[in-house]
Formats: sequence, structure tokens, C-alpha cells
Amino acid sequence: MTNQITCELIDVMGSDADIAAAARVSYGNRSKPSTDAEDERLIRYLVRHGHTSPFEMAEMKFHIRAPIFVARQMVRHRTANWNEVSGRYTELPDDYWTPETWRSQSSTNKQASASSTPYSPRHFDDDGDLSDPSAPWPIAEDLAFLEYNRRLDAGVARELARTCPQLSTMTEWIWKNDLHNIFNFLRLRRSAHAQPEIRIIADAIAGAASLNFPLSLNAFDDYITHAITLTAPEILALTTNTRPHTMTDSEWSDFLVKADRLNPPISKDSSCC
Ligand SMILES: Cc1cc2nc3c(=O)[nH]c(=O)nc-3n(C[C@H](O)[C@H](O)[C@H](O)COP(=O)(O)OP(=O)(O)OC[C@H]3O[C@@H](n4cnc5c(N)ncnc54)[C@H](O)[C@@H]3O)c2cc1C
Repeated sequence: MTNQITCELIDVMGSDADIAAAARVSYGNRSKPSTDAEDERLIRYLVRHGHTSPFEMAEMKFHIRAPIFVARQMVRHRTANWNEVSGRYTELPDDYWTPETWRSQSSTNKQASASSTPYSPRHFDDDGDLSDPSAPWPIAEDLAFLEYNRRLDAGVARELARTCPQLSTMTEWIWKNDLHNIFNFLRLRRSAHAQPEIRIIADAIAGAASLNFPLSLNAFDDYITHAITLTAPEILALTTNTRPHTMTDSEWSDFLVKADRLNPPISKDSSCC
């Protein structure tokens, strides 16, 4: 069973104009009429200079459906408000997520995946003899739901029966956050380092932000998402065209990624100065 990860916008509070008005209170000018161009200039200034509190005056609320392993990543964003379906109140539906294509383990990044692999598990109700050791292995989720239903039928409480379904079991929750912390979420979860499955949700949230807060999201993308931040050793490497002796291999490889985007005449020789 392949399930869809979905993220639906259900409520919005505020607008770009409200964010700009909140910022104007700093100099006692909250109700001063302003043009879109003035709001845009102010919002871009706020993002550029890290004046984040006006962005906390705007909020968005979503209904999200995703497997538990994605929910585990989302819940780490502690500033969001969260309410989730309960496996104590309700029986879990036999509803789990599997990738359309199984990816292989990355050989360069311990937490990432690479291209597809030919791995293909068999579903429980596929043809074939389960006792045949040469047959494809039945997918664990089917077995887990079989056991879950067996426990419920035997009268085990839902709060205990639910211990066997897998990380791929679908769950759903309401997620609300303010724009400042949504930007932080997008910075981390639209990045190439984030798992592709949570990026589906991050892209949907970015889409909702671009419709409802276009000036703010543009400023955020210009000054944060697509910006390059340089550390002091990286500035030294750029200005001296050599690798500072304090730079570790990992820092150096991070720097080379940035240098490729900047495309300066930097020597890619990794020997230290
Ligand atoms: C690619 C990637 C890999 C990750 N890998 C792991 C992993 O292996 N293991 C793991 O456990 N986590 C992992 N995480 C989760 C990560 O460490 C953060 O917990 C998560 O991204 C939430 O970020 P946040 O704290 O900025 O967000 P929020 O919790 O929304 O917090 C927003 C901001 O509020 C402030 N804040 C919130 N709570 C506190 C606090 N208690 N004290 C001080 N300031 C606070 C901080 O400034 C924070 O940036 C990973 C995240 C990413 C993006």
C-alpha cells in the first residue's frame, strides 16, 4: 500500500501588511497608511537584520497526514502547536506508507539516501508461499497489522495493541506555527539535507506561505534560503585563496560547496597554508 503524504492549509492569521504594521509599532507608527512598496522595503529590512518578532504576529494552521517517522521529525519543531489522532481513542486503520521507489544508503552521508535500489518487498496478500525461503520476504507492515488485529480481537487494550505497527503507519495531526518559526522549519526542512518525505510537507508549507505572505517569503528566500553564510575561516580561505590550517576536512568540503556557488578563483587544493 502506498499512501500519500498530504499537508492542507486550514487557517491563516495575518498578512504581510500586518507584519509590517507590527514592526511600525517600534517607532509609534503602527496605523500610518503604507503602500505595498513601503511594506516590502520594511519586511526585507526586517529579514535582512534578523528582526524576527513581527513575523510571530502571523500564523498558519495545517492538517497533515504522514507516516509516523515523518511525524517524529516534525515534532522536533517544538515551537509548533500540535494535536494528533490518538491510538488510545481509536483503532489504527491498516494504513501505512511505502516508498514508490526504495532508495539505497548514501555512501558519503551517514543519514542520507542515494539512488534507487532493486529491493522490492512482497505484500502479504501477493501470490506465493510464505514458507518458501526463496520467495520475497513479506513486508513487515502487513504482518504487524495482522498481529495488531489479533491483539484487538483477543481483547487487548488499544493503548497496548498499538505497539506493533511500524514507523510507516500513517498518522494525522493539526500543526500550527507562527511565520518566524515556520521560516526556521523551512530553512531546515527544505534543505537538501532533509529527508525527501519531510520535504514534501515543507514544500507544501512554503507554497501556502508564498500565497499568503508573498513579500515575507520572497525576503526569506532571498536573504536566508538562497543566501550563503560564510564563517571566519571560510572568509580567510576566500581572501587568501588557501585552506586555513584550522579547517577540518568536513569544514573544507562544506566550504567547497559554497565556493562552487560563488565561483571565485579559489584553488580547490585541500593542502593547508
Ligand atoms: C537534516 C536534519 C537532521 C537532524 N538529525 C537529528 C538527529 O539525528 N537527532 C535528533 O535528535 N534531531 C535531529 N534533528 C532535529 C534538530 O536537531 C532540531 O531539533 C529540529 O530541526 C528542530 O529545530 P529547532 O530547534 O530550530 O526548532 P524549534 O524546536 O521549532 O525551535 C525554534 C527555535 O526556538 C529556539 N528554541 C526552541 N526550544 C529551545 C530550547 N529548549 N532552548 C533554547 N532555545 C530553544 C531555538 O532558537 C530554535 O532554533 C535533525 C534536523 C535536521 C533538519
